[in-house]
Formats: sequence, structure tokens, C-alpha cells
Amino acid sequence: MRVGILGGGQLGRMLAMAGQPLGISSTVLDPSADPCAAQVCSHIRGEFDDFQSLYKLAQVSDVITYEFENVPVESARWLAERLPVYPPPEALEVSQDRLTEKAFFQRLGIPTCEFAGMETKPVFDLAMKRIGLPAVLKTRRFGYDGKGQLVLRTVHDIETAWETLGGRPLILEGFVPFGRELSVIAVRGRDGEVEVYPLTENEHREGMLHKSLAPAPNLSPALQKQAEEYARRVLDELNYVGVLAIEWFDVNGQLVANEMAPRVHNSGHWTMNGAVTSQFENHMRAVAGYGLGSPAAVGHSVMFNWISTHPPFADVLKLPHAKLHWYGKEPRPRRKIGHLNVNVPTAADRDAAVREYESRFIG
Ligand code: AMP
Repeated sequence: MRVGILGGGQLGRMLAMAGQPLGISSTVLDPSADPCAAQVCSHIRGEFDDFQSLYKLAQVSDVITYEFENVPVESARWLAERLPVYPPPEALEVSQDRLTEKAFFQRLGIPTCEFAGMETKPVFDLAMKRIGLPAVLKTRRFGYDGKGQLVLRTVHDIETAWETLGGRPLILEGFVPFGRELSVIAVRGRDGEVEVYPLTENEHREGMLHKSLAPAPNLSPALQKQAEEYARRVLDELNYVGVLAIEWFDVNGQLVANEMAPRVHNSGHWTMNGAVTSQFENHMRAVAGYGLGSPAAVGHSVMFNWISTHPPFADVLKLPHAKLHWYGKEPRPRRKIGHLNVNVPTAADRDAAVREYESRFIG
């Protein structure tokens, strides 16, 4: 089985590595000369909208998938006329635009914050009146890791936010007074079989994921059931194949959807050591049509991202149960370069591991 992956970053790399033991060989398409996935699988250098490069990828693949959601939808559709593309291009289309995405959740009866789309100042002013402060103004497209968004708390912020972001298609969201941020990783096979991982609790710093705890602390069966029901609705509606991530706000035990990613997700990296089947393996199994593995958590896990820099490997590996995942990338400011998983038997052990790691390596 040959899988072609659009994108050769760390997600593509970890997908390719997960495919290897299953006899799946991977080729990534990526515009850079040395994407980190190219260290572990074949690489075609080319832009995502260059049809010759897409054709080359199709020639060496039985099925196509992708590792980031800003792949041009036309490219995914063009490929889908030639061979299976999973997840379906429609999932890309929904998740590339925050307004379409929120309307999609709403149509499926999945709770979201209040929201309004706008391109002009008068429409923005009307939306501000309806939604009120505090609010969050975001670009509809190409925002990630906290980029392209501003929190509006005062009347003064309203003008400056428009000066900064105005002139592009925007979405104004009511500020959600959440207790914590959660995410769910779910996977659907070609035959419609669905598996859902336990909810994960995520902490962001400077707009980027810092750590994930899984299963989420104090996870009630009711909350998990809610997440599973909502994830199934999205997967079934899109006739989805592969891994999907949905990010949530936990508001007094109710899930409010923030956004979704039609791909393996940073908040699912703990599954590499803390679940029966990792998200990467399950994605490859799904797209290859092999059937899914159990998403059950084994013990309790914490994942720490390394962004811009990393602690000395020899020191972190002295922590009991530490598992290192290095992406083979040059460190650069605000670049994700690796992560550490710690998987232990109990939630108390996990909390102790968090304290030890943060006191020794974060400061
Ligand atoms: P996003 O790019 O939509 O994932 O937003 C990045 C982060 O900003 C989220 O993880 C939240 O911490 C925060 N955030 C985004 N939207 C809202 C909202 N409507 N209300 C409160 N916080 C938000």
C-alpha cells in the first residue's frame, strides 16, 4: 500500500513512521528542499497547486491524504478525480474557513459561541452591538497558533482591532468564559466504523499548545459521551475517512466547539505512547482501508511540546517513563521541534510528572 501525503512536516513524518510497520510506504509532497518527513520517506518537491507535482504524487500513490488543512481544495478535488483522497476534500473546505466551520457545527446542532461574519466596518459595528464585549476578532482563513486574531475587552480595542485586521473576511466571536480547553481525536474507517479517543485537556501558551493531559483530568462519562456524539455527527455528515480533531471549550461541563482539524493533531501526540493505537497508526489504517485499532488510553499521559528550543535530551530522558519524539528540524523561534510524552499508571503519577518536568525544565 502506497500513501501520498500532502505536506512533509512533523505530522507527515509521524504518519510515514506509523505506516512502516504496517507495510505502508509513504511519499510526501512538499515545496521545501528538506522537509523533516523526507528523512523517513520519499519526497517530491513541489507546490501544492502545481498540477505536475500532484500528478507525480498520484503516480506513486494508491491513496492520498494530507497533514495540514491549508492544502488548496482544488488540488484535493483534482486528485480525487484520479484516486481516493481521504479525508474528503469537503472536510478541507469546511475547516479552512472559520465562518463556514462554525455554521457547519451549528447546522449539526453542535454548540458554538455566538459569531458573525463581516468584511466591512458597518457590518462589524452591527455585529459588535449584537455580540458585545468581550469578543474575539479573527481572520476567517489561514489563522493558526493564535495568529490573525485579537481579543477585544474595551471600547478602545474595538477600533484598534478593526485597524489591525479590517479589510479581510473576518469573524467576530463572543468570548467564551471557559473553564478549560479540551480536544477530541476521532477516526472513521472506509466502512464507516468510528473510534474516539478519550478527551484531552490542553494548555496553550502564547497561542500555541504547551501541554496535553490525557485522559483529561476528572473526565466524566457524560462529557466523553457528548464529545463522541458530536464527533460522530461531523464524521458521518462528511462521510469522513481518517483522523479528525475537534477543539472544545469546557463551559461548566458543556462542550462548546471552537474549531476542527481534518488531520492528525498536536493534542493527539500522547497517543503515540499512551493509547493502544496511536492517532498516526489509526489514520494510516483508516485511509489504507485496514480497519481501526483500539483508541483506549493505557494509564495516564502528559505531552509537552518543544517550541523554539528543547531541554537537554539526556536530562529529560532521566525522568521515569519519558519518551522523546524529535522531528529532525532546525530550532527556530515559534517552531515546533519535538515533544515529550510521559505515560504512567495513575493520574496522581501523571500530576507528579507534570510538576517535576515543569519545575526542572520550564522554570
Ligand atoms: P483558535 O485559533 O481559534 O484555536 O484560538 C486560539 C486560542 O484563543 C484558543 O485556544 C483559546 O484559548 C482562545 N480563543 C479562541 N476563540 C475564543 C473565544 N471565542 N472565546 C474565548 N477564547 C477564545
